Amino acid sequence: MSELLLDDLSRRYLRVDDAPAAIDAYREGNTGIPYVWTFESGRPGPHAVICAIMHGNEIAGAAVLDRLMRAAVRPIAGTLSLCFANPAAYARFDRHNPHRGRDIDIDLNRVWGPELCDDSRDEAEIRRARELRPLFEAADYLLDLHSMQAPGPATAVVQDTGRTLDLARRLDVVPIIVTGEVHDPSSIRLRNFGRFGDPAASATALQIEAGQHWHAETVDVAEDVTYRFLEMLGLLPAIDRPPRHEQKILKIIDIPRCDGPGFAFRDDFPNGAFFPEAGTLIATEGEREIRTPVDDCYLIMPVHFRRPSGTIGRFAVRA
Ligand SMILES: [Zn+2]
Repeated sequence: MSELLLDDLSRRYLRVDDAPAAIDAYREGNTGIPYVWTFESGRPGPHAVICAIMHGNEIAGAAVLDRLMRAAVRPIAGTLSLCFANPAAYARFDRHNPHRGRDIDIDLNRVWGPELCDDSRDEAEIRRARELRPLFEAADYLLDLHSMQAPGPATAVVQDTGRTLDLARRLDVVPIIVTGEVHDPSSIRLRNFGRFGDPAASATALQIEAGQHWHAETVDVAEDVTYRFLEMLGLLPAIDRPPRHEQKILKIIDIPRCDGPGFAFRDDFPNGAFFPEAGTLIATEGEREIRTPVDDCYLIMPVHFRRPSGTIGRFAVRA
């Protein structure tokens, strides 16, 4: 895999506030699957899975699960599972090179399709996905905790199925909901796996991008989202909370790319940056200019740690 290119802007985002949580003590699990813990209330209710570190260097999710384990959080109804998805990649996390160590071999969030049954495939992430498969097949709800390269408001990345959007809207502590991602059948994400992606099923998955990968506040945001998710599903008692955010529901209209090493953003745009006028200059790449394609456009998840060729973010508008 090609090395990531760093520029002055991306170097600003290499700061790692807190060391990664120690998770070795959670290796054994209580389900027969390493690093997976399941707690049954003994009372009727859904099975909710909180998944963290799908990407090994997105350490905030592991900190949240560590807090839940230390607090001995147990469901009052239904079943709660906590899953450290890619502990092998997480173990390689290096706070001096935090942009590396996302995967061992390949992206664990792209292997939830035919790879699972393809005997010719033996990458570390595919082996782990096969191990985790029974957990996700048994889940009614999934909260998949991720983080982003740029700071900015937490964002739910959801499919256009009505039930997924409904669930995201109920989780109104998350200020931005993004739909309309181009669906690539050759790289199935966990949020599309099995019943989660089946229009006729009821299992529902939310992928949350909680904040910048290595900022301490991202852990607090991800923890808050997690508690509200579990309260909403009735697994934890609902408690009084401050007023919630007004949500923006956005749909992706374009996924701009860079094609060479000369790419640079024009400014330090956060996730969710808003541009009222079409044609606003966002980035340059040599002579080429990347401008907003329409009025009232949002930039979603600008990419600071880029391949020489690849996506640099997403343009979205109000749905
Ligand atoms: Zn991720």
